[in-house]
Amino acid sequence: MSEKTAPSPASEKPYQVLARKYRPQNFAELIGQDAVVTTLRNAIAADRLAHAWLLAGVRGVGKTTTARILARALNCIGPDGKGGPTAEPCGECPNCKAIADDRHPDVIEMDAASRTGVDDIRELIEQVRYRPTSARYKVYIIDEVHMLTTNAFNALLKTLEEPPEHVKFIFATTETRKVPVTVLSRCQRFDLRLVPEDLLARHFTSVAEAEGVTLDAAAARLIARAADGSVRDGLSILDQAVAGAAKGEAIGEAAVRAMLGLADRTQVFDLFEAVMQGDIARGLDLVTAAAAAGADAESMIGDLLELTHWLTRVKITPAIADDPVVPEAERVTGRKLAAGLGMAVLARAWQMLLKGLSEVQAAPQPMKAAEMVLVRLAHAANLPPPADLIEKIQKGEGAAPAARPASPSKPPAGGNGGGTGARATLDASRGSAKAQPAPEPAPEPEPSAEPTAQLPTSFVAMVELLDRNREARLAGELRTAVHLVRYEPGRVEFRLNDRADGTLANRLGPALAKLTGALWAISLSSEPGDPTLAEQASSAAEARRRQAAEHPLVKAALAAFPGAKIVDVTGGAPAAAVAEQPMPDPDADGDMDPDIMVPDEEPPPPGSEEDY
Ligand SMILES: [Zn+2]
Repeated sequence: MSEKTAPSPASEKPYQVLARKYRPQNFAELIGQDAVVTTLRNAIAADRLAHAWLLAGVRGVGKTTTARILARALNCIGPDGKGGPTAEPCGECPNCKAIADDRHPDVIEMDAASRTGVDDIRELIEQVRYRPTSARYKVYIIDEVHMLTTNAFNALLKTLEEPPEHVKFIFATTETRKVPVTVLSRCQRFDLRLVPEDLLARHFTSVAEAEGVTLDAAAARLIARAADGSVRDGLSILDQAVAGAAKGEAIGEAAVRAMLGLADRTQVFDLFEAVMQGDIARGLDLVTAAAAAGADAESMIGDLLELTHWLTRVKITPAIADDPVVPEAERVTGRKLAAGLGMAVLARAWQMLLKGLSEVQAAPQPMKAAEMVLVRLAHAANLPPPADLIEKIQKGEGAAPAARPASPSKPPAGGNGGGTGARATLDASRGSAKAQPAPEPAPEPEPSAEPTAQLPTSFVAMVELLDRNREARLAGELRTAVHLVRYEPGRVEFRLNDRADGTLANRLGPALAKLTGALWAISLSSEPGDPTLAEQASSAAEARRRQAAEHPLVKAALAAFPGAKIVDVTGGAPAAAVAEQPMPDPDADGDMDPDIMVPDEEPPPPGSEEDY
């Protein structure tokens, strides 16, 4: 109900899209490109005009608009018909008007994206030698110039080398790197910048004002953010908002939010919170509700990913949560969540969701796949972050002794006690920087944990690492011919049996160094050492026990939850099955994140970690 002044004269005319109606007609109206404008102004004022310019910048940033203004500046003759090139084209002379209407015969626009061939260029170059019909300069504006073929570039180059006095070229490109250096070197280059959000917001507010519409500050900011640096895109959104607004009513935040599809994100926050608290029952209820409301699995995981990213950023720069574009409720919840979650936990959530997203995309039943992703995430949420665990293990803080047989690993004789059957198969050794692409927000794990986290935490993990990285032969020798005496990350001591190749130790060091980026101390010992891995595997019970004992997560879980003990290892899986998978490998393709856990059976109910 804002009081409205008389409708502006513009609104009487047939509606013209705002991007066109408010297309800048001179340099003064061009917003956000001050550096380019200043240089062009100076060049024109000093009469030092290049004969080719290259306008570089992302889509929608104003390259063709700038090109047209430049064409007018070159050809303006002033209201009296006597002016020369000017930084302030008059907008009244026949040249200015014709160029503004895209109908000047001497200003030729060509889109190289659609006309890339050498014939097109040849045709154009044929015309170059004719003098302009009515303008001072023939101006060729070639958009997306990087799309031209090599032959077309070569044809163009000859003209660029010796351009006739009356010809100017203005090239625009989104991909400067694809423009040949020979062409680049003959152009004066301008990089057009994305227009900053606050500048855009102000611009949209003033355009709305000129249209006789009130635009809320928050709504303007939302549009500016969605415009992503492009005046044109923002004005298109404003078009829609104006069209959708009731006459005489201000355009508010809620309307724009709805229009942009920025649905109420409370659900996403609730889901994330439930899952990160390990409350999978509530999480799955929320998924069911969201699915009933029409949410699709992929965008659900996508939303969670985005939220994870945002929370990570909030954690790094808390001021981000103050952004007025973010609704108040989200700001409050966001700050709370970011404060409650560690960086490593967020990084782990990001990785699990990222991997989950591709699973969901590939799954025949995406919603079920999404649920499984959330189950895993909720399950992992009950555990301390891997980096913490690894660090603890390596510092020997309450963990099983880093060296040999971990006493807590021995299942108490006859111990059953209906222990949980869950076998967490987290392999912390895969935190290797090599095997694992950095997550996009790149929240580094705690720096202190970084160097050690890259190294396999057990001998088995070390062999696995070799196996996964085309060192199967070496891995095989280690399994059959090596009696481990001592292992710590970066240091292996073993005895070779008589089947061993004497060069094994010499080959192992470099291979490990290559895979882990660390120097390894490999030493031969005369101590008897453990049975070989192959011997161990031959005894299923033994293998099962070792698997548990050596497993970093198990160690970590024991360390992290004082009083916990291993009651049973696999919940009665047949021994043969265990022997078949000497090392759990939840992800066969090797580029695993260190934190995917595959519950063997039922995950323990939240809060029952002590059962580990
Ligand atoms: Zn003019």
